[in-house]
Amino acid sequence: MSYILKKYSVYFLFVFILLCISCQEKKAVSRTEFVIGTICSIKIPESESSDRILNECFSELKNLELILSANDENSELSKVNNYACDRPIKVSSELYELIKLSKKIAVQTNEAFNPAIGQLVKLWNIGFDNAKVPEKNEIKNALTFTSVDNIELKGESEVFLKNRNTKIDLGAIAKGYLADKLVRLLKDKNVKSAIIDLGGNVFVLGKKFFTSNNWKVGLRDPKADSNDVFLSLELSNTSVVTSGIYERFFIKDGIRYHHVLDSKTGYPVKNNLVSVSVICESSTYADALATAFLVMGYEKSLNFLKNFSDQKLDVVFIFDDGTYKTTNEALILH
Ligand code: ADP
Ligand code: MG
Repeated sequence: MSYILKKYSVYFLFVFILLCISCQEKKAVSRTEFVIGTICSIKIPESESSDRILNECFSELKNLELILSANDENSELSKVNNYACDRPIKVSSELYELIKLSKKIAVQTNEAFNPAIGQLVKLWNIGFDNAKVPEKNEIKNALTFTSVDNIELKGESEVFLKNRNTKIDLGAIAKGYLADKLVRLLKDKNVKSAIIDLGGNVFVLGKKFFTSNNWKVGLRDPKADSNDVFLSLELSNTSVVTSGIYERFFIKDGIRYHHVLDSKTGYPVKNNLVSVSVICESSTYADALATAFLVMGYEKSLNFLKNFSDQKLDVVFIFDDGTYKTTNEALILH
Protein backbone atom coordinates (compact mmCIF):
# COMPACT_ATOMS: atom_id res chain seq x y z
CA MET A 1 0.00 0.00 0.00
CA SER A 2 2.58 2.46 1.02
CA TYR A 3 4.59 1.41 -2.03
CA ILE A 4 1.61 2.23 -4.29
CA LEU A 5 1.07 5.58 -2.57
CA LYS A 6 4.72 6.38 -2.98
CA LYS A 7 4.60 5.39 -6.61
CA TYR A 8 1.56 7.61 -7.23
CA SER A 9 2.96 10.56 -5.34
CA VAL A 10 6.09 10.39 -7.48
CA TYR A 11 3.84 10.26 -10.53
CA PHE A 12 1.80 13.27 -9.36
CA LEU A 13 4.93 15.19 -8.57
CA PHE A 14 6.21 14.49 -12.05
CA VAL A 15 2.94 15.67 -13.67
CA PHE A 16 2.95 18.74 -11.41
CA ILE A 17 6.48 19.67 -12.47
CA LEU A 18 5.59 19.16 -16.12
CA LEU A 19 2.51 21.36 -15.71
CA CYS A 20 4.60 24.05 -14.06
CA ILE A 21 7.12 23.98 -16.87
CA SER A 22 4.43 24.21 -19.53
CA CYS A 23 2.68 27.02 -17.59
CA GLN A 24 5.96 28.90 -17.53
CA GLU A 25 6.51 28.35 -21.23
CA LYS A 26 3.07 29.64 -22.04
CA LYS A 27 3.67 33.08 -20.62
CA ALA A 28 5.20 36.03 -22.41
CA VAL A 29 6.67 39.04 -20.66
CA SER A 30 6.74 42.56 -21.99
CA ARG A 31 8.43 45.76 -20.97
CA THR A 32 7.58 49.29 -22.07
CA GLU A 33 9.78 52.35 -21.60
CA PHE A 34 10.02 55.84 -23.01
CA VAL A 35 13.35 55.86 -24.85
CA ILE A 36 14.68 57.28 -28.14
CA GLY A 37 11.94 59.94 -27.88
CA THR A 38 9.09 57.47 -28.14
CA ILE A 39 7.29 54.61 -26.40
CA CYS A 40 9.15 51.35 -26.96
CA SER A 41 7.92 47.93 -25.97
CA ILE A 42 9.43 44.49 -26.32
CA LYS A 43 7.63 41.21 -25.61
CA ILE A 44 9.36 37.83 -25.40
CA PRO A 45 8.52 34.40 -23.91
CA GLU A 46 9.08 34.22 -20.17
CA SER A 47 12.14 32.28 -19.06
CA GLU A 48 14.80 32.36 -16.38
CA SER A 49 16.76 34.83 -18.48
CA SER A 50 13.92 36.92 -19.94
CA ASP A 51 14.36 39.78 -17.46
CA ARG A 52 18.08 39.95 -18.18
CA ILE A 53 17.47 39.87 -21.93
CA LEU A 54 14.94 42.71 -21.69
CA ASN A 55 17.45 44.72 -19.63
CA GLU A 56 20.03 44.20 -22.35
CA CYS A 57 17.59 45.27 -25.06
CA PHE A 58 16.76 48.54 -23.32
CA SER A 59 20.45 49.22 -22.55
CA GLU A 60 21.16 48.73 -26.25
CA LEU A 61 18.45 51.25 -27.14
CA LYS A 62 19.84 53.80 -24.69
CA ASN A 63 23.42 53.31 -25.92
CA LEU A 64 22.40 53.72 -29.53
CA GLU A 65 20.34 56.81 -28.69
CA LEU A 66 23.54 58.42 -27.39
CA ILE A 67 25.07 57.78 -30.79
CA LEU A 68 22.28 58.48 -33.26
CA SER A 69 20.08 61.21 -31.82
CA ALA A 70 20.00 64.51 -33.71
CA ASN A 71 18.13 66.12 -30.80
CA ASP A 72 20.66 65.44 -28.05
CA GLU A 73 23.51 67.95 -28.14
CA ASN A 74 25.83 65.38 -26.54
CA SER A 75 25.20 62.56 -29.00
CA GLU A 76 27.92 61.36 -31.31
CA LEU A 77 25.84 62.53 -34.28
CA SER A 78 25.66 66.07 -32.82
CA LYS A 79 29.45 66.09 -32.54
CA VAL A 80 29.66 65.20 -36.21
CA ASN A 81 27.12 67.93 -37.06
CA ASN A 82 29.06 70.50 -35.02
CA TYR A 83 32.66 69.65 -35.85
CA ALA A 84 32.98 67.38 -38.90
CA CYS A 85 33.04 70.43 -41.18
CA ASP A 86 36.45 71.50 -39.81
CA ARG A 87 38.07 68.12 -40.31
CA PRO A 88 37.01 64.48 -40.74
CA ILE A 89 35.82 62.94 -37.46
CA LYS A 90 36.38 59.33 -36.47
CA VAL A 91 33.06 57.75 -35.47
CA SER A 92 31.72 54.50 -34.01
CA SER A 93 31.14 51.60 -36.38
CA GLU A 94 27.36 51.96 -35.83
CA LEU A 95 27.27 55.60 -36.88
CA TYR A 96 29.57 54.98 -39.83
CA GLU A 97 27.52 52.00 -40.99
CA LEU A 98 24.20 53.87 -40.76
CA ILE A 99 25.47 57.01 -42.51
CA LYS A 100 26.92 54.84 -45.27
CA LEU A 101 23.63 53.01 -45.83
CA SER A 102 21.67 56.29 -45.58
CA LYS A 103 23.82 57.81 -48.31
CA LYS A 104 23.22 54.77 -50.50
CA ILE A 105 19.42 54.90 -50.02
CA ALA A 106 19.45 58.67 -50.63
CA VAL A 107 21.11 58.10 -54.00
CA GLN A 108 18.74 55.22 -54.84
CA THR A 109 15.65 57.32 -53.99
CA ASN A 110 16.92 60.47 -55.66
CA GLU A 111 17.01 62.10 -52.20
CA ALA A 112 13.34 61.47 -51.40
CA PHE A 113 14.93 59.94 -48.30
CA ASN A 114 17.60 62.49 -47.47
CA PRO A 115 19.84 62.21 -44.37
CA ALA A 116 21.42 65.61 -45.17
CA ILE A 117 18.10 67.32 -44.40
CA GLY A 118 19.06 68.27 -40.81
CA GLN A 119 19.23 72.03 -41.27
CA LEU A 120 15.76 72.12 -42.86
CA VAL A 121 14.31 69.86 -40.13
CA LYS A 122 15.66 72.22 -37.43
CA LEU A 123 14.28 75.24 -39.26
CA TRP A 124 10.72 73.86 -39.09
CA ASN A 125 11.23 72.12 -35.72
CA ILE A 126 7.98 70.19 -36.18
CA GLY A 127 7.11 68.13 -33.12
CA PHE A 128 8.73 70.66 -30.76
CA ASP A 129 7.25 73.65 -28.90
CA ASN A 130 8.88 76.26 -31.12
CA ALA A 131 7.72 74.81 -34.46
CA LYS A 132 7.06 77.56 -36.98
CA VAL A 133 6.53 78.17 -40.68
CA PRO A 134 9.91 79.51 -41.82
CA GLU A 135 10.30 82.52 -44.13
CA LYS A 136 10.59 81.64 -47.83
CA ASN A 137 14.18 82.88 -48.01
CA GLU A 138 15.13 80.80 -44.94
CA ILE A 139 13.84 77.70 -46.72
CA LYS A 140 15.63 78.65 -49.94
CA ASN A 141 18.82 79.10 -47.97
CA ALA A 142 18.47 75.76 -46.11
CA LEU A 143 17.94 73.93 -49.40
CA THR A 144 21.44 74.88 -50.54
CA PHE A 145 22.90 72.59 -47.84
CA THR A 146 20.80 69.45 -48.26
CA SER A 147 22.70 67.66 -51.01
CA VAL A 148 23.78 64.27 -49.73
CA ASP A 149 27.07 64.75 -51.62
CA ASN A 150 28.03 67.09 -48.76
CA ILE A 151 28.37 64.03 -46.52
CA GLU A 152 31.69 62.36 -47.22
CA LEU A 153 32.91 59.09 -45.75
CA LYS A 154 36.65 58.68 -45.47
CA GLY A 155 38.45 55.38 -45.00
CA GLU A 156 36.59 52.92 -42.81
CA SER A 157 35.59 55.16 -39.93
CA GLU A 158 35.60 58.88 -40.70
CA VAL A 159 32.86 61.36 -41.61
CA PHE A 160 33.43 64.76 -43.17
CA LEU A 161 30.84 67.46 -43.92
CA LYS A 162 31.87 69.44 -46.96
CA ASN A 163 29.58 72.33 -46.08
CA ARG A 164 29.53 74.00 -42.65
CA ASN A 165 25.72 74.22 -42.72
CA THR A 166 25.01 70.64 -43.77
CA LYS A 167 23.55 68.69 -40.83
CA ILE A 168 22.79 64.98 -40.74
CA ASP A 169 19.40 63.79 -39.48
CA LEU A 170 18.87 60.03 -39.18
CA GLY A 171 15.33 60.33 -37.73
CA ALA A 172 13.76 58.59 -40.72
CA ILE A 173 15.96 55.48 -40.52
CA ALA A 174 17.26 55.18 -36.94
CA LYS A 175 14.27 53.38 -35.40
CA GLY A 176 14.49 50.72 -38.10
CA TYR A 177 18.21 50.32 -37.45
CA LEU A 178 17.54 49.96 -33.71
CA ALA A 179 14.86 47.34 -34.35
CA ASP A 180 17.32 45.32 -36.47
CA LYS A 181 19.93 45.58 -33.70
CA LEU A 182 17.41 44.23 -31.18
CA VAL A 183 16.45 41.38 -33.47
CA ARG A 184 20.12 40.39 -33.72
CA LEU A 185 20.49 40.59 -29.95
CA LEU A 186 17.40 38.43 -29.36
CA LYS A 187 18.51 35.85 -31.93
CA ASP A 188 21.94 35.69 -30.25
CA LYS A 189 20.14 34.92 -26.97
CA ASN A 190 18.21 32.16 -28.70
CA VAL A 191 14.86 33.96 -28.42
CA LYS A 192 12.70 32.42 -31.11
CA SER A 193 9.68 34.70 -31.07
CA ALA A 194 9.18 38.31 -30.05
CA ILE A 195 7.36 41.54 -30.83
CA ILE A 196 9.40 44.71 -30.91
CA ASP A 197 7.46 47.96 -31.15
CA LEU A 198 9.53 51.13 -31.28
CA GLY A 199 6.91 53.87 -31.48
CA GLY A 200 4.93 52.08 -34.18
CA ASN A 201 8.00 50.68 -35.91
CA VAL A 202 7.23 46.98 -35.51
CA PHE A 203 9.23 43.78 -35.91
CA VAL A 204 7.61 40.36 -35.43
CA LEU A 205 10.19 37.67 -34.83
CA GLY A 206 9.31 34.04 -35.60
CA LYS A 207 5.74 32.85 -35.12
CA LYS A 208 3.11 34.03 -32.65
CA PHE A 209 4.03 32.97 -29.09
CA PHE A 210 3.64 29.22 -28.49
CA THR A 211 1.89 28.59 -31.82
CA SER A 212 2.82 27.94 -35.42
CA ASN A 213 0.65 30.85 -36.56
CA ASN A 214 1.70 34.10 -38.15
CA TRP A 215 1.43 37.32 -36.20
CA LYS A 216 -1.45 39.68 -36.84
CA VAL A 217 -0.24 43.27 -37.15
CA GLY A 218 -2.75 46.12 -37.37
CA LEU A 219 -2.13 49.30 -39.36
CA ARG A 220 -3.58 52.32 -37.60
CA ASP A 221 -6.37 54.21 -39.29
CA PRO A 222 -4.55 57.36 -40.47
CA LYS A 223 -7.75 59.43 -40.38
CA ALA A 224 -9.06 58.47 -36.96
CA ASP A 225 -7.83 60.25 -33.83
CA SER A 226 -8.32 57.01 -31.95
CA ASN A 227 -6.22 53.90 -32.26
CA ASP A 228 -8.65 52.24 -34.69
CA VAL A 229 -7.18 49.62 -37.00
CA PHE A 230 -7.43 50.39 -40.72
CA LEU A 231 -6.44 46.90 -41.81
CA SER A 232 -4.56 43.90 -40.43
CA LEU A 233 -1.63 42.03 -41.91
CA GLU A 234 -0.60 38.45 -41.34
CA LEU A 235 3.17 38.19 -41.01
CA SER A 236 6.17 36.43 -39.51
CA ASN A 237 9.86 37.28 -39.22
CA THR A 238 9.52 40.70 -40.70
CA SER A 239 9.25 44.37 -39.96
CA VAL A 240 6.35 46.72 -40.65
CA VAL A 241 7.20 50.40 -40.65
CA THR A 242 4.72 53.19 -41.31
CA SER A 243 5.47 56.75 -42.23
CA GLY A 244 2.44 59.01 -42.06
CA ILE A 245 1.49 62.65 -42.25
CA TYR A 246 -0.75 62.45 -39.16
CA GLU A 247 1.76 61.73 -36.41
CA ARG A 248 3.75 64.87 -35.79
CA PHE A 249 2.36 68.16 -37.03
CA PHE A 250 1.27 71.66 -36.07
CA ILE A 251 -1.51 73.86 -37.34
CA LYS A 252 -0.96 77.48 -38.36
CA ASP A 253 -3.70 79.66 -39.89
CA GLY A 254 -5.79 76.56 -40.48
CA ILE A 255 -3.03 74.77 -42.40
CA ARG A 256 -1.54 71.50 -41.13
CA TYR A 257 2.22 71.17 -41.39
CA HIS A 258 3.56 67.65 -40.78
CA HIS A 259 7.07 66.34 -40.18
CA VAL A 260 8.04 64.60 -43.43
CA LEU A 261 9.72 67.17 -45.62
CA ASP A 262 10.44 67.22 -49.32
CA SER A 263 14.06 68.26 -49.70
CA LYS A 264 13.33 69.48 -53.25
CA THR A 265 10.73 72.06 -52.12
CA GLY A 266 11.64 72.51 -48.46
CA TYR A 267 8.00 72.05 -47.38
CA PRO A 268 6.07 69.15 -45.84
CA VAL A 269 5.25 66.61 -48.51
CA LYS A 270 1.93 67.12 -50.26
CA ASN A 271 0.31 64.40 -52.35
CA ASN A 272 -2.69 62.08 -52.05
CA LEU A 273 -0.97 59.70 -49.60
CA VAL A 274 -1.67 59.81 -45.87
CA SER A 275 0.58 56.92 -44.96
CA VAL A 276 2.90 54.31 -46.38
CA SER A 277 3.70 51.03 -44.63
CA VAL A 278 6.67 48.99 -45.77
CA ILE A 279 6.96 45.30 -44.92
CA CYS A 280 10.56 44.11 -45.14
CA GLU A 281 12.84 41.79 -43.19
CA SER A 282 15.28 44.68 -42.82
CA SER A 283 13.62 47.21 -40.56
CA THR A 284 16.33 49.73 -41.50
CA TYR A 285 15.29 49.63 -45.16
CA ALA A 286 11.59 49.52 -44.23
CA ASP A 287 11.98 52.73 -42.20
CA ALA A 288 13.99 54.66 -44.79
CA LEU A 289 11.80 53.53 -47.68
CA ALA A 290 8.49 54.23 -45.89
CA THR A 291 9.65 57.85 -45.61
CA ALA A 292 10.97 57.88 -49.19
CA PHE A 293 7.70 56.49 -50.64
CA LEU A 294 5.65 59.04 -48.72
CA VAL A 295 7.78 61.74 -50.33
CA MET A 296 7.76 60.17 -53.83
CA GLY A 297 4.02 59.53 -53.98
CA TYR A 298 2.33 56.39 -55.30
CA GLU A 299 3.33 56.35 -58.98
CA LYS A 300 7.01 57.15 -58.44
CA SER A 301 7.18 54.56 -55.65
CA LEU A 302 5.88 51.87 -57.99
CA ASN A 303 8.50 52.83 -60.59
CA PHE A 304 11.17 52.68 -57.92
CA LEU A 305 10.02 49.20 -56.88
CA LYS A 306 10.32 47.91 -60.47
CA ASN A 307 14.07 48.55 -60.41
CA PHE A 308 14.83 47.82 -56.75
CA SER A 309 16.33 44.45 -55.88
CA ASP A 310 18.38 45.09 -52.70
CA GLN A 311 15.58 43.75 -50.50
CA LYS A 312 12.34 41.87 -50.88
CA LEU A 313 9.59 44.18 -49.75
CA ASP A 314 5.88 44.86 -49.85
CA VAL A 315 4.04 48.12 -49.44
CA VAL A 316 0.61 49.33 -48.32
CA PHE A 317 -0.27 52.84 -49.51
CA ILE A 318 -3.20 54.55 -47.79
CA PHE A 319 -4.76 57.52 -49.61
CA ASP A 320 -6.54 60.62 -48.37
CA ASP A 321 -9.90 59.37 -49.75
CA GLY A 322 -9.77 56.41 -47.34
CA THR A 323 -8.76 53.80 -49.95
CA TYR A 324 -5.58 51.73 -50.08
CA LYS A 325 -3.39 49.91 -52.59
CA THR A 326 -0.89 47.19 -51.88
CA THR A 327 1.81 45.30 -53.72
CA ASN A 328 0.69 42.07 -52.03
CA GLU A 329 -3.00 41.55 -51.26
CA ALA A 330 -2.18 38.08 -49.82
CA LEU A 331 -0.73 39.69 -46.67
CA ILE A 332 -4.00 41.37 -45.81
CA LEU A 333 -6.47 39.68 -43.48
CA HIS A 334 -10.06 39.99 -44.69
P1 ADP B 1 8.67 58.87 -37.73
O1 ADP B 1 9.82 59.63 -37.17
O2 ADP B 1 7.34 59.41 -37.34
O3 ADP B 1 8.79 57.42 -37.55
P2 ADP B 1 9.78 58.96 -40.38
O4 ADP B 1 10.50 57.68 -40.31
O5 ADP B 1 9.12 59.27 -41.68
O6 ADP B 1 8.66 59.12 -39.30
O7 ADP B 1 10.88 60.07 -40.06
C1 ADP B 1 10.56 61.43 -40.01
C2 ADP B 1 11.74 62.18 -39.44
O8 ADP B 1 12.84 62.09 -40.35
C3 ADP B 1 11.48 63.66 -39.26
O9 ADP B 1 11.06 63.95 -37.95
C4 ADP B 1 12.83 64.28 -39.58
O10 ADP B 1 13.68 64.22 -38.45
C5 ADP B 1 13.38 63.37 -40.64
N1 ADP B 1 12.95 63.68 -42.03
C6 ADP B 1 11.92 64.47 -42.46
N2 ADP B 1 11.83 64.45 -43.79
C7 ADP B 1 12.81 63.63 -44.25
C8 ADP B 1 13.24 63.17 -45.53
N3 ADP B 1 12.65 63.58 -46.65
N4 ADP B 1 14.31 62.35 -45.58
C9 ADP B 1 14.94 61.92 -44.47
N5 ADP B 1 14.59 62.30 -43.24
C10 ADP B 1 13.54 63.13 -43.11
MG1 MG C 1 11.17 56.35 -41.83
